[in-house]
Amino acid sequence: MTARVVLASNNAKKLAELRRILEPLVPGVEVLGLADFPAYDEPAETEPTFEGNALIKARACLAVTGLPSLADDSGLCVDALNGMPGVLSARWSGVPKADGGDAANNRLLLSQLSEVPAERRTAQFRCVMALCTPDGRELVQEGVMAGRVLEAEHGGGGFGYDPLFAAEGYDVSTAELPPGEKDRISHRGTALTAMAPAIVAALV
Ligand code: IMP
Repeated sequence: MTARVVLASNNAKKLAELRRILEPLVPGVEVLGLADFPAYDEPAETEPTFEGNALIKARACLAVTGLPSLADDSGLCVDALNGMPGVLSARWSGVPKADGGDAANNRLLLSQLSEVPAERRTAQFRCVMALCTPDGRELVQEGVMAGRVLEAEHGGGGFGYDPLFAAEGYDVSTAELPPGEKDRISHRGTALTAMAPAIVAALV
């Protein structure tokens, strides 16, 4: 039987990124998404930390699917905004994703930083990956990608805040990087790579 793991996400771009990272690390794994199961009411992300919210999502997915369940919670932490939007990244502007939330979030962030000079625009993408297994184990791994918020959007790849973020040592935004290059340095890539041995162990 094929080893299967569920990624507790409906975000198609995030799912594609997670699949791309995970499949070479865990050969032969079948990576399912929430779209492969009957829809369920996803729990509210009520915790103040990435870890707390990742665990909420992974536990709910395990309860519904009975399969090893992975969830990530991630966001952009901007130093000049005292670490915000952080866990509020997806809903920073209050505009629903389906109504152009990502673009509205980017516009709001740019306006909030309009007076902030280049040297104080430092930020980090953070990701906590949680794995909940049917035998009751819960594991978390964190990944961080440091960089800065640009003064305008660049590039059409990636998702979310990617057009506004340049990783440390790069002159281009993460929306301009080839996908494999973003995976190699990204918060999500680092967290998932660290989690890979536990995923392999959960599948045997
Ligand atoms: P989550 O789905 O609750 O984890 O929300 C994550 C939010 O953080 C996304 O909607 C994006 O706004 C932002 N985010 C997280 N990771 C990335 C990334 O790799 N690129 C761009 N935006 C990201």
